[in-house]
Amino acid sequence: MQNECIFCKIVSGEVRSEKVYEDDDVVAFLDVNPSAPGHTVVVPKQHFSSILDMDDDLLCKVFKAVKKVTGMIKESLNPDGFTIGINQGEAAGGRIPHLNVHIIPRFRGDGGIVIQMVVRNVPEEDLSTIAEKIRSSGGEISTYLEERVEEKPKKLEEVLPVEKEGPTGEMKFHLEPEEERKKEGIDEKKLEEYEKEELEEKEKKYKGKKKIKDKEEEELEEMERILRQMQIPR
Ligand SMILES: [Zn+2]
Repeated sequence: MQNECIFCKIVSGEVRSEKVYEDDDVVAFLDVNPSAPGHTVVVPKQHFSSILDMDDDLLCKVFKAVKKVTGMIKESLNPDGFTIGINQGEAAGGRIPHLNVHIIPRFRGDGGIVIQMVVRNVPEEDLSTIAEKIRSSGGEISTYLEERVEEKPKKLEEVLPVEKEGPTGEMKFHLEPEEERKKEGIDEKKLEEYEKEELEEKEKKYKGKKKIKDKEEEELEEMERILRQMQIPR
């Protein structure tokens, strides 16, 4: 236990909380500053500041509790979905250095945004360079991938064309398996050409970082305008 840690004090009972679940290793209680009805925080009883410091078994227990509590909230408050996440480290806004998993019930039309929108720090390097850096720190994973990939995998955008990325960051993916398209009598060749054209147009449109930046700024402004309209405090 860390002396000044508020979550350690909640775990020990020194500070009152609305606990909704507890076992030998984990406690779940309502966030005192809830973002939504039923907003719950799940913490290991032992003080850890990062998942990287935690024993795998304990981490499993924490996530088992997350699943259990999510089910309890679903059952009792009937939300339409959940945002589940960890703010790990000060840079990520983790104000309390005791690892905690937020379970935020989501309701249709609640005005919330998707978890990917917490930051828009677009990388300068391309994805394969970044992926290579990450893979090089864990050799087993690259071997695993190489062994599994028998034929050249399709690009994500070939399988899941991005339909819309709105100002609030909602992304809709549309999955159209080949079979289904055939059933509906969609010409594969025409579709391919259309998708190629669309991709080329997109590339032309967003070539150069400056233009991408402009687009992001526009999106951000649009989001702020919507938030202002809805009078949601940020
Ligand atoms: Zn603590």
